[in-house]
Parts: sequence; C-alpha cells; structure tokens
Amino acid sequence: MSEKLATGRPTIKREAIASLGMVTSNHPLASLAGLEMLMRGGNAIDAAVATVFALSVVEPMMVSIFGAGFFTIRLADGRLVTIDDYAVVPLAAREDMYVPIPGSLDNEVEGGLNDTGYLAVATPGSLLGWTTALERYGRLPLAVVLEPAVRYARQGFRVSPYLHGFIRLCEDELRRFPASAEVFLPGGVPAPVGSILRRPDYAATLERIATEGASYLYDGPLGQAVARDMALNGGLVTLDDLARYRLYEREPVRGTYRGYEIVSMGPASSGGVHIVQMLNILEGFDLAAMGFSTPDTVHLIAETMKIAFADRARYLADPERVQVPVEWLTSKDYAAERRAQIDLRRAQQYAAGIAPDGEGACTTHCCAVDAEGNVVSATQTLNGAFGSKVTVPRTGMLLNNCMKLMDPAPGRTNSIAPGKRILSSMSPTIVLKAGKPLLAIGTPGGVRIFGAVLQAIVNVIDFGMSVQEAVEAPRLFDRGPVLELEHGFDRLPELAAEMERRGHTVQIVPKVAGGMNGILIDQETGLLRGGACWRADGAAAGYSGGDAVVTGEEFSPGIPT
Ligand code: GLU
Repeated sequence: MSEKLATGRPTIKREAIASLGMVTSNHPLASLAGLEMLMRGGNAIDAAVATVFALSVVEPMMVSIFGAGFFTIRLADGRLVTIDDYAVVPLAAREDMYVPIPGSLDNEVEGGLNDTGYLAVATPGSLLGWTTALERYGRLPLAVVLEPAVRYARQGFRVSPYLHGFIRLCEDELRRFPASAEVFLPGGVPAPVGSILRRPDYAATLERIATEGASYLYDGPLGQAVARDMALNGGLVTLDDLARYRLYEREPVRGTYRGYEIVSMGPASSGGVHIVQMLNILEGFDLAAMGFSTPDTVHLIAETMKIAFADRARYLADPERVQVPVEWLTSKDYAAERRAQIDLRRAQQYAAGIAPDGEGACTTHCCAVDAEGNVVSATQTLNGAFGSKVTVPRTGMLLNNCMKLMDPAPGRTNSIAPGKRILSSMSPTIVLKAGKPLLAIGTPGGVRIFGAVLQAIVNVIDFGMSVQEAVEAPRLFDRGPVLELEHGFDRLPELAAEMERRGHTVQIVPKVAGGMNGILIDQETGLLRGGACWRADGAAAGYSGGDAVVTGEEFSPGIPT
C-alpha cells in the first residue's frame, strides 16, 4: 500500500488500524495489557489503567505507582473529565531546603539533592489516581486489571536497547541504592540487552495492591515501609503526607483551533494552558500554506513557544495556592495581542504578559479508545529516569524525584512550600471535531512536552499528517535563547542557516521530547488508527473482528452435529 506522506518520507514505525479497540503506549507489552482488558469486556479506562500498571513494570525508568500523572478522559456519553494525580511537596519541606545553582534553567541545586536520593522524593499520586480512575469510570475489578503487570513482573520481560541505555546512563546513581541495583544491575552490571529482567518484589507489591487497593500505600504496610525508609535516610515523606494526599478531578482546559476543540490538562499542569495559548496565536497564520518545516513555520512555532515560556515562569503553579489566570492566558484576545508582537523576519526574546488583576524525557504516555466511544489520554511519570533512583527495600517500588520540578529559589511563583502541588508540563490531550473525538495524544519530554504536543496537533490539522507521521515528524523547541532543531528535518543545514539569519541561536539535537503516541479516530469510518513514534519502545495494538453475528431467535451453530 502506498500512502501519500505529508512529510514526504516514510515513517519508521507503522500505524495500527482497527475497528473495535486501540491502545498505544511506549511498550508493546503494556499496549497488549490494555488490549487484553478490552477483549475481556473492559472499557478504555480499564485498558488505560492496565497499561500504566504494566508500564510501571516494563518501562521502569519512566513510571511507578510512587509517581505522578494526569488522565484526560472523554466518556462515551460526552462528559469530559481530567484526573490530577500529580505529586505534592512533603509537609516537612522548606522553600530554602536546597541551594540553587545560579543560572540553571532546569532547577539544578548543589549536590543534586532534588534529583537523586531521598530528598528528591515528593508525595505520590499515581497509585491513588490509577485506582480511582478505575473505580469511577472503569468496570473491571482491580485484581483483573493488575494481572498483566503482575505477570510481567514475576515472569520477566526482555531488556530492550532503550531500557539498557537508560540503565547505563543512570548506572552510578542506581548503584547507590542497593534495592535498585539488585534489579537493574544484576551481577553489578547494567542488565544486558535481550536479557530477561524479573521484578519479584514489585510483583508481590502489586499482588497486595490487587487485594488491598491503594490504601496499602496511603495508610497501610507499604506506606509504613516507605516512612521507615525515609526516616532512616533523611527523606521527608511521612505516613501523614501519604494519608493527607488529595486527588483532584478537575475541569479540563478547553480551547478551539480552526474549528477543532482542544481538551487538555489544566493546572497543576502548565501543558494544557500553553497548548491552547499557542494554538490561539498560530491560528492567525496560514500554516498549511506556509508548509511543514519551512523556515516561516519553524520561526513562528519557535516565537510562539518563547511567548508561552515567558508566561509560564510568571503565572503557572499550584492552582490551590496561586491565582493562575487560565481564562486570560487561553483567550483569543490575549493571543491576538501576543501575535502582534511576532516579527516574521527576526527572532525576539519575550517578557511575560501583564495579566489583568488578578531531558530530559522521562515520563510515559498511553492512549486507549474502545468501541463504545470512551477515550483516554494519560501521561504518568517518575519525573527523572528511574526518579530519585531509590527503591524502597523489599518492595520493588521506585520513588519519584518530582521535587526537581519546583523552583529551588525562594519567593517565586513555583517556589517550594509544604503541601504545594508540583508544577508539571504533562499534557494528555484530546481533540474533538463537531463534538466527536478525533485524536488522543501525549508524550514524555519534561518542559518540551506541550510544545511537542502542539506540533503534533498542527501536523494533523494543518499539514494533514496521519497519526503515525504526526508523532514521528521532526520537532523543534525554543524557550529562549536557543532554538533546538531535531536532526530529522529535511534540508537541515539550509533551515538552520535561515534561522540563524533571522536571529535564532540554533542547536541541532538528536531528540526533542520523547516517545509520543496517539490514536486518531477516522471521522467517516470510525476506524481507529494508532501511532507510536521511534523515540521510545512504543507500539500500537488494536483489534477488529470480535463476536460472531447471532441473529434472530434461532441460533445456528453452522457446524454439523
Ligand atoms: N520530567 C518529565 C518528563 O520527562 C515531565 C514531568 C512533568 O512535567 O510533570 O517528561
């Protein structure tokens, strides 16, 4: 089959097409876990939750039950829901608990204390988020949804070059924590590519969760093990932190773009707000006529991103503590004001707007769509690769390092405060057309996430790409003063030279953000198209076919008896 490709070149992976259900994630076994739930009568929420539990086993550098995340859900009856299971600052934390490294754009502090080890750990929301999503919107029992994850943890799974690469990258830090080293550095060396990694302690932990639910962590024996380990090693998370953790079901952030409706995650993520803001700005330009990856398009997206980052630093933080001017930031009027500041010929640096009164890529994403019309887009994280690198002994459970996402300098919008919700960039998004779901999409990538999701949306809407092309297409990133361009752009030397001429400082990078995946729902046929990109171990898994057609009163087996 030859398809006309908007990028003019074949994709690296291929999309999956199915009629009855589709799951995409950054590991084939995790997508399969979700698909298993659909085939066992579960819905897209059961599938997504089984997928994230499985990811916490097979993509251990990206996600854990002791992490943080968001779900954006469009239910078959049209309701739109977001679940905020993001992490919070422990109650014993103080705004001057770290010594910031001056000039760091990535919240670096002396001794890497907000990055590796016990002081980097924040109070997690993942497990409660996953079990709550299941209770409220799924239909299968937790024990069933956990089955694939337990199986993978107990029986083991193959170490991919991608996982091996992350273990090597983090080898020295993992070695500092014996319970992490035991799993990922068997015999003292990084688990080799192709070897089978088993996680028996984590399997046992998941089995206990299957019977006891999230309270096994939030006020039970697992929480006690965490609190003991924290106290022994100078960490801050206590049983009280766990018991007081609160999950939020929030109104999604919504916007429109050329007649499509955008539904995404609001604060405590900055992602949805800035996706809508940037789309509003770009709507005033004819991107389709400008063309994918042309100098004008690259310049415009870069300028738009810098505007978003200027506003992010000024306005975005925990919405319970800080008045985030969401309506203003996502308004068409404010976008028009900002659009007028862009000069097509010349790169600029931008300050935050004045509101009216008032990596790395170390995360994971999955999408699930069922035949009933439920759509889930979920991004979940440990923040850094393997989070804090700490595994609580005898639990197999890796702990996040979400404290790294807080501004280590006191007195700022996103400075540390006890119990404050941590500011994220994760952007699980759903795009609707005439009220019907069209696209579920998301990616890892730290602060590069919302710009990457923005580019995928523009790729589909303006450049007519398939979902596979849209998630794989080369990306750019610019928060000022450097414009990052991925290796993959066509005619890269010419493009880079033209960008320099317009005043950008260009850096060529291997990757912007991480393994994106998404599902596109064909508006005419209802077919589900799943895509997962080359930047991670992603795969789409779907199924068609299904039950035999049984008509009338008389059942005919069709087989001679
Ligand atoms: N560090 C995470 C990633 O690499 C993102 C965390 C967040 O923004 O919430 O994708």
